[in-house]
Amino acid sequence: MTSVEEFSKNALSFLEANAKKRVVEKSVWGQGSDVVAVLPEKTEEEEKAEVTAAKKWAQKVFDAGFGWITGPKEFGGAELSDEYARAYMALEAQYDTAPQSCRGIGLGMVAPTILAHGTQSAKEKYLRSLYRGDIIACQLFSEPGAGSDLAGVSTFARRDGDEWVINGQKVWTSGAHYSQIGEILCRSDLQAPKHRGLTAFIVDMKAPGVSVRPLRQMTGGASFNEVFFTDVRVPDDHRLGDVNEGWTVALTTLMNERAAIGGGGGGVSAGSMSQRLTELVKHVGNPKDPLVRQKLVDIYMNARVAQYTNQRAMAKIAKGQLPGPEMSIAKLSLTENMRRICDYVSVVLGMRVIADANQWGTYGWSTFILGVPGMRVAGGTDEVMKNIVAERVLGLPKDAKK
Ligand SMILES: Cc1cc2nc3c(=O)[nH]c(=O)nc-3n(C[C@H](O)[C@H](O)[C@H](O)COP(=O)(O)OP(=O)(O)OC[C@H]3O[C@@H](n4cnc5c(N)ncnc54)[C@H](O)[C@@H]3O)c2cc1C
Repeated sequence: MTSVEEFSKNALSFLEANAKKRVVEKSVWGQGSDVVAVLPEKTEEEEKAEVTAAKKWAQKVFDAGFGWITGPKEFGGAELSDEYARAYMALEAQYDTAPQSCRGIGLGMVAPTILAHGTQSAKEKYLRSLYRGDIIACQLFSEPGAGSDLAGVSTFARRDGDEWVINGQKVWTSGAHYSQIGEILCRSDLQAPKHRGLTAFIVDMKAPGVSVRPLRQMTGGASFNEVFFTDVRVPDDHRLGDVNEGWTVALTTLMNERAAIGGGGGGVSAGSMSQRLTELVKHVGNPKDPLVRQKLVDIYMNARVAQYTNQRAMAKIAKGQLPGPEMSIAKLSLTENMRRICDYVSVVLGMRVIADANQWGTYGWSTFILGVPGMRVAGGTDEVMKNIVAERVLGLPKDAKK
């Protein structure tokens, strides 16, 4: 087997040949856009260009053998350990490459679920193309009447020979408008207890009967959608897991979702955020104020704690173990810290975060502040994460609503 050193040497020559080395500025103040965002506002054209660039870069990376480093060879992976994947990620981070956030749900949640619960034909059909960036996937779980109480979904899947017929509505589906496939959770048995009557499928987002309508969020962008299903036919080999065992499938996806968000999927790394905040205080705040300094360190430490908690959970996954409530703790720590950042920035900037004072690095924080409530809801709300920690870590009585 190639050593990590040899592998890294190959990765480096690939990156040197295909991307520009990132220039690390000593100071980020006053340079480029000052918008700080977790749910960025994009025009339709900007989003289209981003998706195209993301796919193009993914295809290059995949064809060079770095697209799915830990995956099974049978489905296009390189079958190497996590150490190799981390080595590649650390190298790629030093280069300017197309952002891959539009592929996050597909790779972070849907692909691991297909690998764990898909049929052989579905794995062959979709895993390679997801990792190569040929297709993008979305997650079709939430409904107008089922979010935190996900097992209450009512979109119905009726069996019809070798096919299923799906009718119903999903909501808050991020990226449905540029996805080619989706993972959908449906009710398949009306008589069974709610967690036992669910079945999951991969659905073709371009199939007849699928209608996607955008929803605009308060940051100005439209990353979400309502998705309507009218007599949509799905072949049985697109079923994920057994009939009426969809809850197990959904848990696999949700664990991976919390890992992705808790690991900084919201685009906020401890290092870059503390650099931005330090620069903010230095240039427009009061860096001599001991309370301002103390709160900044507090934010940095909490971000690190969230990161390490997430790494513990990821290490369990890498060893083939199921992560426990670490995922919920990591997600909750990240969003709690985002809330602290919002409070901190509001104190440092005062009214300059509400009204544009035409001063670089100030009003640009408003997009972040407007995006954080969404992060506290996505992938399981803060309250639901607290319930999980209360029950599974602290051993408190079960939530009365269940
Ligand atoms: C940025 C973002 C991206 C998203 N992307 C997707 C996506 O791609 N696919 C998808 O399927 N969904 C997506 N969602 C939807 C998300 O999963 C749901 O919004 C979330 O699960 C909460 O469900 P709900 O909105 O129905 O709120 P509800 O469940 O109705 O909750 C309303 C309020 O009640 C509280 N609450 C509910 N139950 C309890 C309880 N038992 N104990 C205490 N408090 C409780 C909640 O914390 C919340 O404050 C996204 C949401 C956001 C914000």
